[in-house]
Amino acid sequence: MSTMRVVSAMVSPLRRISPVAVRQGSKRCFSSSQNLQATWGFIGLGRMGFPMARNLRAKLPAEDVLFVQDVNTAASKKFLEENPEGVRIASTVREVAEKSENIITVLPEPHHVAGVYKQMLEPPSLLKDGFSAKERLFIDCSTIDPMTSQSVASAAHASGQGKFIDAPMSGGVVGAQAGTLTFMIGAAPEIVERATKILSLMGKRVLHLGEQGAGLHGKLANNYLLALNNIATAEAMNMGIQWGLDPKALANMINISTGKCWPSEVNNPVPGVIEGSPSSRGYEGGFGIGLAAKDLKLAVKAAKESNIRLALGDTAKAFYEEVEAAENCKGRDFSVVYRHLGGKE
Ligand code: NAD
Repeated sequence: MSTMRVVSAMVSPLRRISPVAVRQGSKRCFSSSQNLQATWGFIGLGRMGFPMARNLRAKLPAEDVLFVQDVNTAASKKFLEENPEGVRIASTVREVAEKSENIITVLPEPHHVAGVYKQMLEPPSLLKDGFSAKERLFIDCSTIDPMTSQSVASAAHASGQGKFIDAPMSGGVVGAQAGTLTFMIGAAPEIVERATKILSLMGKRVLHLGEQGAGLHGKLANNYLLALNNIATAEAMNMGIQWGLDPKALANMINISTGKCWPSEVNNPVPGVIEGSPSSRGYEGGFGIGLAAKDLKLAVKAAKESNIRLALGDTAKAFYEEVEAAENCKGRDFSVVYRHLGGKE
């Protein structure tokens, strides 16, 4: 894996990137006149995808067309109602692939991604049958296992129908709405510039971590660490509080000491320690326990597939599954592990 490169921290990409300049490059991403109209596809209008597609549409030139698709037809309909200009609902994902040059997918699990790409890429005649004969760029922003992602990439590349990159993201629903997401991308060097321009319409930072698959490896390594730090913080806080320490004094001490981490400093699991944190509002909002469990599961699986030894992975995974299933924890912010440990609230 190559050294990480922060490719962009853009403020207003379309103001900075002249459509003409982009067209003059090897790949045209944005258009500025009717006959040079660009087409875009977006599949998966869920909690993340919906606001991302809205930001994308808002920043594209008015004459460009965005094709959207979601198995939940109500989501597509709502998107069109809220964004009536330059949006079309595609009836199938194959239609999105046929009509778009740049296609973004934001889907829940590996099998959704595999299924959607199979439908898009088969039969392998997109360049012939498609509305656009230009080389397509497929950008998958879903958090899935690197193996599934690599097999989808191989299918796209082997059939010559387009390039595929993994671009998992961080920043949550709040970042998706505000257009401040961070994308970690795994892409061949020649695609990085094109992908960065596109992703900058929905986020603030694009980090190129290496070849295809590298974005997911980075994302899973980070979320593995986050999941463990979260449990460790809850255990350490619970320990200190049971020994009679004041929660705020304990957190303040940790946060200027070597135990400091994001869960201790920003998302402390003990209610009242950090004003406005999920734990201080009944563990509502934030990073869902289900998503934390999912990412940890993917990280542990991917590590096993690469024969990488983990000392804590399986234990933490079993613990998250237990918390996720508990009636008083399910659907809440992942810092609710503190409640499940029996922490004082
Ligand atoms: P979500 O479940 O809210 O949305 C997924 C959308 O995909 C739904 O609208 C669903 O109907 C649609 N979909 C499912 N199968 C489909 C198919 N075959 N064809 C078309 N549409 C289909 O999920 P989300 O929270 O938006 O997360 C999406 C991805 O982003 C996940 O991989 C998740 O791990 C990742 N992610 C989520 C967050 C977060 O805070 N929610 C943060 C970072 C990354």
